[in-house]
Amino acid sequence: MRVAVVQVAVPVPLPRLFDYLPAADESLPPPGSRVLVPFGSRRLVGLVIRQSRVEPNERLKPIERVLDAGLIDAVMLDLFAWCQRYYACPPGEIVNLLLPGALRRVKAFREAPAEYLALTAAGRAADLGRAPRQAQLRDLLEQDICSRKALAERGIGAEIVRRMVDGGLVVLTELPPALPAAAGPPLNPAQRSAVAAILRQRHRYATLLLAGVTGSGKTEVYLTVAQRLLRRGRQVLILVPEIGLTPQLVRRIERRLGCPATVYHSGLSEGERLAAWKAAADGRAQVLVGTRSAVFLPLSNPGLIVVDEEHDGSFKQQDGARYHGRDLAVLRAARLAIPIVLGSATPSLESLNNVELGRYQLLELKERAGGASLPRWRVLDQRGQAGMLGEPLLGAVARHLDEGGQVLLYRNRRGYAPVLICNACGWQADCQRCDAHMTWHQLPPRLQCHHCGAQRPMPPRCPDCGSPGLVPLGAGTERLEDLLKQRFPQVPVYRVDRDAMSGRDDFESLLAEVRDGRPCILVGTQMLAKGHHLPGVTLAAVLDVDQALFSADFRAPERLGQAVHQVAGRAGRAERAGEFLLQTHHPENPLLAALIADGYLAYAGQLLAERQAAGLPPARALALVRAEAHQQGSARDFLRAAARLLAGRNLSVTGPIPAVMSRRSGYWRFQLWLQASERARLVQRIADQLAKLHELPEARRVRWHVDMDPIEI
Ligand code: ADP
Ligand code: ZN
Ligand code: ZN
Repeated sequence: MRVAVVQVAVPVPLPRLFDYLPAADESLPPPGSRVLVPFGSRRLVGLVIRQSRVEPNERLKPIERVLDAGLIDAVMLDLFAWCQRYYACPPGEIVNLLLPGALRRVKAFREAPAEYLALTAAGRAADLGRAPRQAQLRDLLEQDICSRKALAERGIGAEIVRRMVDGGLVVLTELPPALPAAAGPPLNPAQRSAVAAILRQRHRYATLLLAGVTGSGKTEVYLTVAQRLLRRGRQVLILVPEIGLTPQLVRRIERRLGCPATVYHSGLSEGERLAAWKAAADGRAQVLVGTRSAVFLPLSNPGLIVVDEEHDGSFKQQDGARYHGRDLAVLRAARLAIPIVLGSATPSLESLNNVELGRYQLLELKERAGGASLPRWRVLDQRGQAGMLGEPLLGAVARHLDEGGQVLLYRNRRGYAPVLICNACGWQADCQRCDAHMTWHQLPPRLQCHHCGAQRPMPPRCPDCGSPGLVPLGAGTERLEDLLKQRFPQVPVYRVDRDAMSGRDDFESLLAEVRDGRPCILVGTQMLAKGHHLPGVTLAAVLDVDQALFSADFRAPERLGQAVHQVAGRAGRAERAGEFLLQTHHPENPLLAALIADGYLAYAGQLLAERQAAGLPPARALALVRAEAHQQGSARDFLRAAARLLAGRNLSVTGPIPAVMSRRSGYWRFQLWLQASERARLVQRIADQLAKLHELPEARRVRWHVDMDPIEI
């Protein structure tokens, strides 16, 4: 006789669910329940995925306790099942995404006290003449309810707060302050028709690709639609690529919508994440803004999902469950029967392909809003120029600074120089564990590998020939900062990269300073290119496009186009016309010519046609099986065996081939390319063979995974 069990996903990296009996004298908990289960010698918090019946066996154990019955709803469980199958990842990895850390702890998490403080009647009346700190807090609270975080920023510590709470002068409340909504600018005709097109779909699923040049007013479109849906009590989920983008956007959203926005990203504490998760689940949070993992937030009454900067690679998770936040958001919207808006000035080829196939509806905003114009583009021939700061470029910088403008220079390399080379013999500082040069950093002085993180002191002389003539080759942001400071001592030069902006608020405070509008130079990496509104910038430049022109990665031309248009988009937003410069040693390169000739969509259309001709994504589906091992042979042997298992009809298997970076952190890296014209075919084949792949004897000597729709090769 078969017995009733539940199949539970537990947060361990094993590719299966585990069966459990119900707790003694209890019935089976429904799918979506959070349960405490024994697991080996440990106890773990897991998620019930489904009920089932199995042959009894003595290894079956009962659930220890049901923590929350039916916590996760059917739509999310469906997303779970889809995610597990499509991305071929262990169920436990998805549990980590569905439940915030606090709900995965075996010991009950102690929730932080409520976030906001309000004055009581006693507090208003109290004589605080001899407690100046408390009086100061009262003055603040008399004006408004205030968050504990805001108080901490004003130097009012937890101790003062606690004393006033204990004395009954102040209470803690979950309720964030109500805000007055500020009207936005009147929408222009293009924006109005985009809003209307989205609202027409408000009762059903539709994906709308809002392709609008930088500064065309896409955000105003989202906000106008959001406002309409909020009035009907629906929740709005906004996904953004990076935490760095949230503060600015959150303030704008709150101001315009007149309601607090709840943020959700990895930079929050466990308690903050839990609070946001719960507020989303019970509907208190009406507007949610988060990075990719926010796609897993429970929502009680969703009405709209927005994915801002939908082309951004950071929506794809690169370890564990290798899901794409944008793609899951589309799937979720479909299951919820609500519209989803994907916004970008430089849409991904995936989304444009879906427009071509009639799956997504394209909404275009071709011009900048509010009378601003797009910058003029110019290509600067770098041949014959010394280094990365050519004279024509420096001349333009000087001119814009003189005219009171700000300058933004984009170079996607951190550190002082990408290579340290010996003048005498040509020796270069390479990483011992990776197939890569080490980057020379000066702050503090060291050699560092950007792939495995290894660090070494700077050698005083060449380890090969003993010559002291070690010199930098090329320039990273640190060196550019130095050079620019020497050349333009009269203006501040700000470096914007992960090294310079490592503190939580560094970037925010820099942006605030820059928005003052005084002439300055910003030099930095991708951080600078992403969606920040810098109204004073009149000149933007990409210092080096050449590497991307000859990359082995088939996505390089797409990324180049996106980076170039995003950087160009920083220039001349306000009344002032802007200028955009591109430096290259290959001014006649056809790819570059296409990029410059017409707008991004025309360029992207050309790239898409090329991908179609070459049978590459998104025209054909691609999955990689990656394997890495300390022994080259092990990785190759595993992939050879995997290739035999995976080969099948209507499916091509290529490899093993070395990864673009063939060795990293001491591991040799190889991959198999699995391609099919039908995505479902590919997913099916992998799902069918996954258990056998895990059981291959060769699998024991390698680390391996499947990456569906990979964005890095
Ligand atoms: P995007 O999201 O496309 O970059 P935003 O919505 O941020 O564009 O708008 C860019 C700038 O133009 C913002 O300062 C915004 O306030 C302004 N703006 C947007 N729409 C209008 C409009 N219809 N009229 C005037 N200004 C506008
Ligand atoms: Zn040497
Ligand atoms: Zn390395």
